[in-house]
Amino acid sequence: MTARHVLAIDIGGTKLAAGVVAEDGRQLSRGRVPTDVAKGPESAVERLVALCRDVIAQAGVPISLIGIGCGGPLDPVRGVTLTPPSLPGWEEFPLVARVQDALGVKAWLDNDANAAALGEHRFGAGRGYQHLVYFTVSTGVGGGVILDGRLYPGSTGNAAELGHIQVSYDGWPCPCGGQGCVEAFASGTYIAARARVTASPRLIALAGSRDAITTEHVVAAVRAGDVEAKKVWDDSVRVLAAGVASAINAFNPQRVIVGGGVTSAGPLLFEPLSRLALGRTMKSLAVGVDVVPAELGDQVGVMGAAAVALSHL
Ligand SMILES: [Zn+2]
Repeated sequence: MTARHVLAIDIGGTKLAAGVVAEDGRQLSRGRVPTDVAKGPESAVERLVALCRDVIAQAGVPISLIGIGCGGPLDPVRGVTLTPPSLPGWEEFPLVARVQDALGVKAWLDNDANAAALGEHRFGAGRGYQHLVYFTVSTGVGGGVILDGRLYPGSTGNAAELGHIQVSYDGWPCPCGGQGCVEAFASGTYIAARARVTASPRLIALAGSRDAITTEHVVAAVRAGDVEAKKVWDDSVRVLAAGVASAINAFNPQRVIVGGGVTSAGPLLFEPLSRLALGRTMKSLAVGVDVVPAELGDQVGVMGAAAVALSHL
């Protein structure tokens, strides 16, 4: 049987990436262009379609399906972006129709966290597992859940907003309208924001100024023994662990995979996260579960989008 190939498209607030991927995960071609979000969606799609034609020509194979991963919220059934915070001006934009019309191939859309969960399941740390929970911890906290080997979409395709698991009753406000959400405390954005408030002279010196502090600076300060930075980091990991434990209690997975920029902290994150999360999970559900880093790294966008397409082949 001849291998089938899909076109994978990853749409983010700063870049548009595309690649041709075989069923076994081999990438035949890939490329990227800036999103230039200020120019609006029509302009971005024009550049995206040109990029897609390029990568298809480079690969030199027929394309069976197109998979698109994009920042949410979106409507995967209608193929429309809703109000993605990373893509201002893309409200109710008919992304799937535009891409299909331009390239003449059927396209499927999912949000970037669901796409990443599918990518890790097919090509990464979730290979061979039937029940997975995926968290991404970067500027926000997102998630995706694989049950019985398939992504669980929910009634409108928006299930598994794991960043908005509420871990503190009457807790801190979250832009989603909830309170005490994991994201509004443990995302890269909020870790940095909290660290700026209590920053030691050492952390400020590491970043250059208080306003320039990022999560990477916080991690570097923790490694250097900074007490204030460690307090911010430890609290963030505890909140994230409460979210992971809640997700394990809800879904009974075999494995929890954690990806996203904040995971570059490595064992400084994973050792306490795994210990604290499993320590507060119900005993009957904690048996045999592990909490592991994602494997796809900076390939997750394109490989996730490829997995979206392949899940429909
Ligand atoms: Zn929230």
